[in-house]
Amino acid sequence: MNLSGHVYNHSDGVTLEAQGETSALESLEKRILAEAPPLAHIISMRHDEIECGAGNSFAIVESEKHEGGLTLISPDVAPCEDCLREMSDPSDRRFSYPFINCTNCGPRFSIIKSLPYDRPATTMKEFEMCESCAKEYADPNDRRFHAQPTACPKCGPRVIFRSSGNTESDEICGTEAIEKTVDFISSGMIVAIKGLGGYHLACDAANDDAGIKLRERKKRDEKPFAIMAADIESAKTICEISQEEERLILSPQRPIVLLRKKPCNKISEYVAPQNKNLGVMLPSTPLHHLLFQKCESQVTAVTGSPMKSLGNDNAEVIPAALSGNPVATVNQSRILVMTSGNLTDEPIAYKDDDAAERLAEIADAFLVHDREIHIRIDDSIARELAGSTVLMRRSRGYAPAPVRLSLEMSAALACGADLKNSICVTSGKNAFLSQHIGDLANFEANKGFVETSMHLIKTLGITPSILAIDAHPQYHSSLEGKKLFPNARVVEVQHHHAHIASCMAENQLPNMDVIGIAIDGTGYGRDGTIWGGEIIIASYEKFERAASLAPVSMPGGDAAAKEPWRMALAYLAKAEIKEIPTKLLAAAAPHQIEFVEKMIRSDISCPKSSSLGRLFDAVAALIGIRFVNSFEGQAAMELEQIADISEEKSYTFSLEDDAGLKRIDFSPMIREICLDIRNEVPAPTISMKFHRTTASALAGMAGLARQRSNAVCLSGGSFQNEILLSLVKKMLVDEGFAVYTHSLVPPNDGGIALGQAAIASHVNS
Ligand code: ZN
Ligand code: ZN
Ligand code: FE
Repeated sequence: MNLSGHVYNHSDGVTLEAQGETSALESLEKRILAEAPPLAHIISMRHDEIECGAGNSFAIVESEKHEGGLTLISPDVAPCEDCLREMSDPSDRRFSYPFINCTNCGPRFSIIKSLPYDRPATTMKEFEMCESCAKEYADPNDRRFHAQPTACPKCGPRVIFRSSGNTESDEICGTEAIEKTVDFISSGMIVAIKGLGGYHLACDAANDDAGIKLRERKKRDEKPFAIMAADIESAKTICEISQEEERLILSPQRPIVLLRKKPCNKISEYVAPQNKNLGVMLPSTPLHHLLFQKCESQVTAVTGSPMKSLGNDNAEVIPAALSGNPVATVNQSRILVMTSGNLTDEPIAYKDDDAAERLAEIADAFLVHDREIHIRIDDSIARELAGSTVLMRRSRGYAPAPVRLSLEMSAALACGADLKNSICVTSGKNAFLSQHIGDLANFEANKGFVETSMHLIKTLGITPSILAIDAHPQYHSSLEGKKLFPNARVVEVQHHHAHIASCMAENQLPNMDVIGIAIDGTGYGRDGTIWGGEIIIASYEKFERAASLAPVSMPGGDAAAKEPWRMALAYLAKAEIKEIPTKLLAAAAPHQIEFVEKMIRSDISCPKSSSLGRLFDAVAALIGIRFVNSFEGQAAMELEQIADISEEKSYTFSLEDDAGLKRIDFSPMIREICLDIRNEVPAPTISMKFHRTTASALAGMAGLARQRSNAVCLSGGSFQNEILLSLVKKMLVDEGFAVYTHSLVPPNDGGIALGQAAIASHVNS
């Protein structure tokens, strides 16, 4: 553009000094905004006039590190179109190379050991660039200029196939390794595949036997497996995909997207038993793309007929012409189960030695590579809900990109909740929410908490002076956090206050009073009971409880959260119903039911809870759809999925005054549900009437608090329920409220740390 000057990176952003014609300078500014590279995210841009210098060239100069400044870390990115094109071009030197990448794509966060982000500070340090790669790396006009993980078959990482029990001498490398993997998968075996942030377990998604075997070996009863489809066309053969969902599943973050199964899809029932949805993702690494290419060419070899594509259209036609060939293979070669490489409840394996040991009993073979994963990062899970994207697990592709806030924050470490744990580190107007860590009751996840916290703090160069923790006296996250930073000022934050502050923060709300509706399974309440159906008036500084569900017994404590039939008995007792609905009698042996009833009557081992999650459990058990949860939230999910959304009636509830606190009593509803059960009203109708009742109760409570604020924040895991979220949102908008929901961080406990950090920052000042 006939400009001279220079440009450089520093801890606070990018500075560009340019001199030349005014028109050229103006056009430069416009073009930076319009033509920024795909991964650039311009938060703000400003210009100043400065003295002219000498010089008639333009240079990219060495990065500068400001003391106390902040460098952002890029999340990992799926392969870009340019790289994919090169990878399938036989004349390209990276043809079929599984580690192809450029400045627009490839591994980042998962390989970075420290900042500034330079090759020696990544796990690519081991690989010395060949001459050709080095030339591209040093050429400002090349797509791989300063692409730190750049590599080629000559100098970069390689893939290795190993079947279980075999020694190093039996290893197979390169293209053959990928072919071997495909052979194993198509013959019904399970292969552990090393991905970007950890290991996956892969098998044929159409093969029932493989699905059953994987469930047995993983010790996973019913929790759905995620699947990977070769491309969007293949995904469309098995699921309904809206425009928004298509955009989401194709985004460079490549999350698992929850989609509605098509009625007669050919995916094995063992992938997502009794579930109307499937978690589907598209390839997130070049290796995944190569696997699908090999699947396809293998099928071509079997059929002997060249195929342009194995998408929907061809799949319908070809099998008919190929009598004797397995139809399933042809149809399903482009869809694989791709579930996390772990035993149930453990964190995903990412270190090679650990994976070899932990997955040995599950996988028949391993497809690994020699580029080390520095930090574990699971797949993200997202869903389109009530007109916007909701992240249910914020991990690969998203973390650790900062959530931008409207307020300055102190340097804090927020330790999150114990379930679906993630942590948050703040600095200035940035909140760095970590990747998903998991359930801290698990020993491995507990180690993951320490590793993730220290890694994020170290790479960002932030020293937390404040430690924000949940108010629960026995949370692992709080204990571990205090061990890490014994001198930090500790701020205890109530669970549901944190949920609401998290929603306020991501919506960039100032410190103001909002009405918060926080609904979930469990959170430690101020009065020592378990909360989970809370309507609060909250700012970042403080909160008060305006309304909540009337407390009910949880017979057996934690056991009641796992066994919804216990909650059904508790709600029956509260509603003073003597006769147990027949369907519920099938939940347990008569003596067990009697025992739990006795517990409730004598109030032994019955902590009190105002949780909405437990009410969902109770209703699911009452109508006989789920007595025991095999994973968290299962009963509630199934209750939502059966609902007949055309049903317009609802049940009744009553309100009690408990020293100024409104208590929603659902006993009238429980009595009406029992009546409906006796009258053989179908479960889908009851479910929808129940959803409508809870939605009106929650929205109604906001209405009662109207004089306190016109803004309502919706948060908590129960807002992952689409029907409930849509109904509550609509009722509130119709009432003229400004309604805020989550889209950048999860509404569930995975988003808690952000709220804790926002609160801690305010309580301190
Ligand atoms: Zn690329
Ligand atoms: Zn090379
Ligand atoms: Fe929660």
